[in-house]
Amino acid sequence: MENLVCQSCESGHAHRYQKILFGDFGDEPHEQQHILCVKCARNMRKSLQNSDDHPAGITRSELIAQLDNFFASSGVFEICARCHQQGTGCCPPTCRVMGSRGCDPANKHGKTVFCSAFICGALINAISECDPQIGRVLKWIKKEVGPVEFHIYEMITRVPADAREPVRPLTLPRLYPNPSGLEEGNKIREKLPGLAEEVLEIRRAWREKESLE
Ligand code: SF4
Ligand code: SF4
Ligand SMILES: [Zn+2]
Ligand SMILES: [Zn+2]
Repeated sequence: MENLVCQSCESGHAHRYQKILFGDFGDEPHEQQHILCVKCARNMRKSLQNSDDHPAGITRSELIAQLDNFFASSGVFEICARCHQQGTGCCPPTCRVMGSRGCDPANKHGKTVFCSAFICGALINAISECDPQIGRVLKWIKKEVGPVEFHIYEMITRVPADAREPVRPLTLPRLYPNPSGLEEGNKIREKLPGLAEEVLEIRRAWREKESLE
């Protein structure tokens, strides 16, 4: 572990904290880092609560709902269900939200923005083959938006404390950029199932490789 000094009160035993500021959809977000002890981080969180540094956007649950609608209408969820059935799904079995049939929508923890934005490379490639613009939108969300809740994902999937990402979120965004181009999942609904077998095959090959390592 690094030995960090709090930038505010100069006590030892500080941690790295990160705050992400989103602009418009597709613009690169700004990242601020602070090195703070737990007490100063708490104070800073409180003082940030009332500051309004966010542009117009949508809430966390609206974003998750938009992504879910897209994945349902495009047929992506069907491929993921088959992937989980064959034992190659990407949700870790340690997840507290996992029900007997995969992610449980009734679970009180609910799914994270990280989970909502995550799609494996094989599936993103298949989607991009159907519609390159939709593929770009999903890649951007996965890269820039999902990681904001990685810390929560680590908690609900029970990653051991010492294996967790050392940078903690200072505050979570109150609003997220509104994705454009995900309104019409049915645009790829016809073509995508034709690529499903290829995606599942890549996942089986990946699992075999993992088990050899
Ligand atoms: S590994 Fe890919 S296809 Fe399988 S559940 Fe995850 S995102 Fe879906
Ligand atoms: S919360 Fe995330 S990791 Fe857990 S089951 Fe749902 S989608 Fe998978
Ligand atoms: Zn301090
Ligand atoms: Zn500590």
